[in-house]
Amino acid sequence: MEKAFEELEKIYTEVEALLKQQTIVCHCCGKCCDFSKNGMRLYIFRLERLYLLSKLGSPLSLKDGKCSGQNQNLCSLHKYRPLGCRTQFCTHTFQEIYEIFAKKIQEIEIKYNIEYEYAEAFES
Ligand code: SF4
Ligand code: SF4
Repeated sequence: MEKAFEELEKIYTEVEALLKQQTIVCHCCGKCCDFSKNGMRLYIFRLERLYLLSKLGSPLSLKDGKCSGQNQNLCSLHKYRPLGCRTQFCTHTFQEIYEIFAKKIQEIEIKYNIEYEYAEAFES
């Protein structure tokens, strides 16, 4: 599984490099991680779920409607956050970038025989 995680990390690095070329306005207010209020949902791939589990030791969950990864409006697991968190902002969703890299994640899953699952990130 480590190899698959390394490939996922490479994908995240590529995503970040592409996003650096975009204009992103973010005031770090943390509202996009408060799912009780923002009306959004966060979906992740199984590989991302396994990766988070390996890094954090527990799955993401909601605490009072907020992602358990949030700490004082900031993401405490910024380095490990899933593709959806990287590409969705309150002002803009980078849908095209999301789709390109979602496909690449699925290719890694196929390569390493990871069963397909695309589901809500938060476990209770
Ligand atoms: S992207 Fe999230 S943290 Fe940034 S300004 Fe919008 S709601 Fe706040
Ligand atoms: S993983 Fe980080 S960016 Fe994503 S919802 Fe949780 S706190 Fe927010």
